[in-house]
Amino acid sequence: MNGQPFQTPVEYLKGVGTARAEVLKKELGVKTLGDLLQHFPFRHIDRTRFYKIKDVQDDLPYVQVIARVTRKEILGEKHTKRLVAQVQDDTGVMELVWFQGIKWVEKNLTAGKAYILFGKPGSFNGKAQMSHPEFDLYGSEAAQRKGNLTLQPVYSSTEKLKQFTLDSKGIQKLVVGLLDQFAREITENLPLYIVNKFKLMARADAYRNFHFPEDANKLAEARHRLKFEELFLLQLKLLKNKVLHTQKFKGAIFDKVGPFFNEFYAHKLPFELTNAQKRVLKEIRQDTQRGVQMNRLLQGDVGSGKTVVALMSMLIAIDNGFQTCIMAPTEILASQHYQTIKSLVGDGFIEVALLTGSVKTKDRKIIHQKLENGELKILIGTHALIEDKVQYQNLGMVVIDEQHRFGVEQRSKLWRKNVIPPHVLVMTATPIPRTLAMTLYGDLDVSVIDELPAGRKPIKTVHLYESSRLRMFGLMKEEIAKGRQIYIVYPLIQESEKLDLKNLMDGFETISREFPLPQYRISVVYGKIKAEEKEYEMQRFVRGETQIMVATTVIEVGVNVPNASVMIIENAERFGLSQLHQLRGRVGRGAEQSYCILMSKDKLSADGRIRLNTMVKTNNGFEIAETDLQLRGPGNIEGTQQSGLLDLKVSDLTTDQELLMLCRKCVEDIFAVDPQLAAPEHQVLNMAFQDKNAGLSWNKIS
Ligand code: ADP
Ligand code: MG
Repeated sequence: MNGQPFQTPVEYLKGVGTARAEVLKKELGVKTLGDLLQHFPFRHIDRTRFYKIKDVQDDLPYVQVIARVTRKEILGEKHTKRLVAQVQDDTGVMELVWFQGIKWVEKNLTAGKAYILFGKPGSFNGKAQMSHPEFDLYGSEAAQRKGNLTLQPVYSSTEKLKQFTLDSKGIQKLVVGLLDQFAREITENLPLYIVNKFKLMARADAYRNFHFPEDANKLAEARHRLKFEELFLLQLKLLKNKVLHTQKFKGAIFDKVGPFFNEFYAHKLPFELTNAQKRVLKEIRQDTQRGVQMNRLLQGDVGSGKTVVALMSMLIAIDNGFQTCIMAPTEILASQHYQTIKSLVGDGFIEVALLTGSVKTKDRKIIHQKLENGELKILIGTHALIEDKVQYQNLGMVVIDEQHRFGVEQRSKLWRKNVIPPHVLVMTATPIPRTLAMTLYGDLDVSVIDELPAGRKPIKTVHLYESSRLRMFGLMKEEIAKGRQIYIVYPLIQESEKLDLKNLMDGFETISREFPLPQYRISVVYGKIKAEEKEYEMQRFVRGETQIMVATTVIEVGVNVPNASVMIIENAERFGLSQLHQLRGRVGRGAEQSYCILMSKDKLSADGRIRLNTMVKTNNGFEIAETDLQLRGPGNIEGTQQSGLLDLKVSDLTTDQELLMLCRKCVEDIFAVDPQLAAPEHQVLNMAFQDKNAGLSWNKIS
């Protein structure tokens, strides 16, 4: 089914009126025939197997039994009124009970006859029982028809739907009707050579078998075909978007490397670049020479050296006569970048300015002016950078830190900042799994820095329970004696703010007692204190005047203190994996051995245990991101919620990564030879862009 019937409102289906159409829409989001067809069963029940009554146990799911009715009676009154029947096979006796539809059962269930019974077994007073089983007269036509049905679909339904007799069985009926009426219109939507090459089940067969499988193998084949279709079309749309974009937007050409880059490389770069950094720089270099706008995602773990790569790319832009900027999501992060860049380029080399909401009007005016006349080459700031009044003379490259808080819309606002849109380099703060990146940022090219600078000692992570707090104090004292500094971080989660603050204050008191003045000095920073005070405390810690920093997660994106060698995280079980990893990344920035101590209560949830074990086991952000994805599912990873991109019906980015890669590759190959999708064998693909049910809606992506 493509195009028309797919879009037909569901109320035109036999058996669905206005009222049912309304609940289907409200409860399941099913508006069209296509939606209904894609309301897939979440499991199937095996109807090939018949149980003997003696084997029926109440922990079994649905079972089928052939048995003869030996007795039938109506018991109780009003609320307790029920029909109870006794059935028997050659192995035992079982009781059936109905509380509803008694009249109908009374009429259709006849004592002395044998039936195929189907239901969820239970027990009552130690006897096998089934309430509200389905029943078909044994040997009847209906029973035979169902006998052919080997795997019965189970659909999700709701209380509300059940009031409209749209329980799983009711929905099943609708789907049967739908397939009877429209099956012939479910036409192939993948190129035939792809279907053949990957031995995919034909599309119509796949839909039918996913609902009503002929057998378990067919079900697996059907599911595979539909997953393939879903992921393939998703990638087709994402990459098509990219192809269109490439055709539409020219890009500034950086065809030379000049004095700024060379001077920096020869005299200012304080270390040797890692191979990964060199490779990524080369990728960016190639991108920016082609005359096509670059949209590149730079992934790399905390501390992998993304900033230097960004800076060096910017220097190339400047060498070619362009201006550049770095956009960060918060003021703290912006000013941190500003400090870093300034210290890297040194004095008198190139002008760098910081523009945030708190820059005074007078200074702001000067910055605006220098941007317009082209004097200012590097601007660093927050959203303030893309306000309409900020006009650049010739903006050539934009670096965005922490993409997920910006979104595609802001990115496109940037494209309009010059006649030829500037190249865009997006840096992620925390790595996300490659498959997720390919979907969320499908229109971006991805570069990965998968190597840390040499000489870094991996951070040692331990997990301690409350009972080992003395060990923690011991380690703290040792490190302070060596001249190191320490962070202690408390959770601050909105709903329990008061309690969290109390925890932090109690913790602070304990620490103060254990680490008394004048030998020890402690800073405290949390959300509620005034900005100046926060800044003052931070600065004291940065200068090494205090040895311990007690804080909430505000320091997550805080300052860089290479002398800090211990990160202690209290109530670590309450943090998410990516946040734990971010926090840990605050240490291990110097040459010394660093530690991360995860403190937790004794009793942990299964997920909590996996999170803490993962942190102890690995320092690799990509590995951690992968585990995070598995624990929480793609919908809960930061930045994915609003995207709507992960609204997948059959496939799952957690488990279908290989298939996703395969589909991506397939689609890339197609665009490489036929970017317009003009070849006859690719015509079928153009339908995907008109058909909402063929994948995702277009406006969510572009
Ligand atoms: P990221 O932004 O990826 O977390 P940074 O760019 O802030 O990482 O780099 C972390 C630290 O490592 C900085 O102090 C930086 O100067 C340093 N650094 C970056 N690249 C190298 C390198 N190749 N060798 C040694 N140190 C490096
Ligand atoms: Mg950084």
